[in-house]
Amino acid sequence: MKILVLNAGSSSLKFQLFLFDKSSETTTTDDYQLLATGLIEQIGEAQSAVHLNCQNKMTDKMPPAKVNDHSAALELMIQLLKQAKCVQSLSELSGIGHRVVHGGEAFSNPVIIDQQVVNTIEQLIPLAPLHNPANLKGIKLARLRAPNIIQVAVFDTAFHQTLPEQAYHYALPYSLYTDHKVRRYGFHGTSHHYVAKQASAYLSEKFPQHSRQLKLISIHLGNGASICAIHHGQSIDTSMGMTPLEGLVMGTRSGDIDPAILFYLQQEMNMTMAELNTMLNKQSGLKGICEQNDMRTIIKLSEQGDQRAQLAIYIFCYRIKKYIGAYLAALNGADAIIFTGGIGENSPLIRQLVCSNLNNLGISIEPAKNDSSMETLIAIEAPSSQVKILVIATNEELEIARQTIHLVKNKSI
Ligand code: ADP
Repeated sequence: MKILVLNAGSSSLKFQLFLFDKSSETTTTDDYQLLATGLIEQIGEAQSAVHLNCQNKMTDKMPPAKVNDHSAALELMIQLLKQAKCVQSLSELSGIGHRVVHGGEAFSNPVIIDQQVVNTIEQLIPLAPLHNPANLKGIKLARLRAPNIIQVAVFDTAFHQTLPEQAYHYALPYSLYTDHKVRRYGFHGTSHHYVAKQASAYLSEKFPQHSRQLKLISIHLGNGASICAIHHGQSIDTSMGMTPLEGLVMGTRSGDIDPAILFYLQQEMNMTMAELNTMLNKQSGLKGICEQNDMRTIIKLSEQGDQRAQLAIYIFCYRIKKYIGAYLAALNGADAIIFTGGIGENSPLIRQLVCSNLNNLGISIEPAKNDSSMETLIAIEAPSSQVKILVIATNEELEIARQTIHLVKNKSI
């Protein structure tokens, strides 16, 4: 079964093509082959960049092309996949899975896309004005181009629809929830869900006594960052809110702040709503503190003695530590903490700083394990640590492909 995963952004189209073993019913890691992965960016600009990586060969940066719009990008993707002999025609696909950022309260699971689903995603645009329109563009074009292929929408918010009321309500006038849908939705759900399943499989195999109702804290640290408390496979709290701005310190986003700072800035500096929005989303977080948002650069600067870079790292890690404390309380203890995302998977320093001085909470890292090279899953806790500490490579596209297969199979039964 060939499954194509599409992630359409405002000026980019990411895609991955998977080949699954037809008989595979499970979520084991070796039931698939990644046939191709690609990215077309700067769509609509004078020159677009095109990357394609086929069957584990090194990434081929293709000659730049002029890709006028998403429709041209989709055609280019099909042409590239055919040239690379990954598919002969789209009719070989068993399904297409689309990443959709915001599913609001309408979607608590992936769904097969029909016109009603398209309409509902459209109605949710006010909740995700930057993301849902681009995701929808990808869906509409793919449905036009491949009308006979089952297409599935997988939502970043869906995994968090299990949040209890006390976790998703803000202490604001209740009518804002009933009339304007103001509540915590949470994001990165596909990633938290994927690593939680990997952790559960690992823990129940290695520690059968753990196969009871597992309590997990999943920490996704990429350019965006969020943390999630998971009880028995269900999200019970998460740091991102109505939008992906709340919670942890991120590359360029502030995460939690006192909302009254905004009134103060408006009064003192005459800042407009648009300026405040840009400041919080694009000029804050790590970048706001030390002018850099790439953690590798920040760590390098910090090693060279740059005090702002050191401060940025401390603030970043301290915020995560506080959330771990909060989620240990929400869960009444945890079986495992999971680090994932570009920073979580690759930075022993950040993992060590986050977990330092938590031994009274049963959390301690084994430095040698923490420094070992990344595989798809490593366990880095010290023998004395009551809480397991896992580093797990996330794979949102694979999760979308698996969710797509699940629905395709159910539909064909
Ligand atoms: P995105 O959220 O865009 O998918 P990623 O999950 O790829 O982002 O994470 C990007 C972040 O991971 C960047 O801040 C990058 O510097 C950081 N990162 C990648 N490798 C390392 C590393 N070896 N050490 C520290 N940070 C790293």
